[in-house]
Amino acid sequence: MAFAHLTGCVKLSTMKLGCLLWAVGCGALLGRATAAEWDVQRCEGRDYVTLENVAAFYGFPKPAPLTPPTAAEIAAMVVGAASASEFGITTAATLAAVSRTIAMEAGGLRLEVTPGLSEASINGVKQWLAFPVRVENGHALVSRLDLSKVIEPRLRPELIAGLQPVTTVVLDPGHGGHDRGASSRFGFEKDFALDVALRARTALEKAGYAVVLTRASDIFIPLEERPAIANRIPNSIFVSIHFNSSSSNADARGFEIFSIAPRGAPATNDWVPSERDLREEPGNAVEQPSGALAGCVFHALLGQVPMVDRGLKHARFAVLRRCERPAVLVECGFVSNPAESSLISSGAWRARIAEAVVDGVENYRALAETKQRPKTLADYRRSAAGHLPLRALAVP
Ligand SMILES: [Zn+2]
Repeated sequence: MAFAHLTGCVKLSTMKLGCLLWAVGCGALLGRATAAEWDVQRCEGRDYVTLENVAAFYGFPKPAPLTPPTAAEIAAMVVGAASASEFGITTAATLAAVSRTIAMEAGGLRLEVTPGLSEASINGVKQWLAFPVRVENGHALVSRLDLSKVIEPRLRPELIAGLQPVTTVVLDPGHGGHDRGASSRFGFEKDFALDVALRARTALEKAGYAVVLTRASDIFIPLEERPAIANRIPNSIFVSIHFNSSSSNADARGFEIFSIAPRGAPATNDWVPSERDLREEPGNAVEQPSGALAGCVFHALLGQVPMVDRGLKHARFAVLRRCERPAVLVECGFVSNPAESSLISSGAWRARIAEAVVDGVENYRALAETKQRPKTLADYRRSAAGHLPLRALAVP
């Protein structure tokens, strides 16, 4: 997790701004592109652009030049890195601070990146990049894949082309039957997930959606059958509901959400792409809508339920890989954490989670059908009067 000191990055010919962002298409962006060009560099077979370029494109103030970390900072980072994997986000947050997070903001958009780390923040929520931000000759470099497939669509989801309308929501309560999922002294993940899905179904039907559950009772459904249900329904989205657990860390807590890893990107926490990461999966055809759905649901969840933000992540779970409709898997807290498992055992708490998921779906539908910019965490905080703050849990 140390700074990547690079030798051998090759400067490629510069490219027009808009065409770099193939995820949203050249046409959408050329209109607002400035005369500047991307300074593309190839490092170890991967294309990168400078953070200065990114800042210029979004109209952010120019980031200050990087200075090398002090010996004390390097020592702190090494210690932090060793314990970050063991102790999770609390230490990772410390590590990020030591690594000098660069925050850039303009026009209602906010991006934070940290040289040396994959952990970023986009419009106020944590976003795991496919590749760490590199450092080359005093410049921070962001991978082109991250810029086009993660940063741009998460910063400005309203520019994603081709989102389909949403008429049906397929809710997928995780596990079931003999597969109980994680468990605590209060009960099993399979039952908590089903309860959230049933509550969300009622609210979604009230809002005018058709709702299909992959299971509406305590039965076992093989993983591959779950996305297949959504694949048979046009204009559907797929939301898989789970609760988390850690066998090694009772302190692990908070929400996280997964969408399919873009082709060529490793799953979050797999540091090096494997051959499998380069393969096209059915889910890759909808990776942009899925990422947008993940963003909508995650902002709504954190905006309505004040829990720790573990971030938007990428995965190749079977339910995401095989789903041809926009698909996410949300982890609604840790049953292995004593405080969270107690909350999760409460029906009122699960109702809040269900409400937030429904709100996220509504935001996605508005985005897909009317290009309405989805509510962000900051928007929720501004209108948070209706919800009780849970100070005891809202610790970073
Ligand atoms: Zn699960």
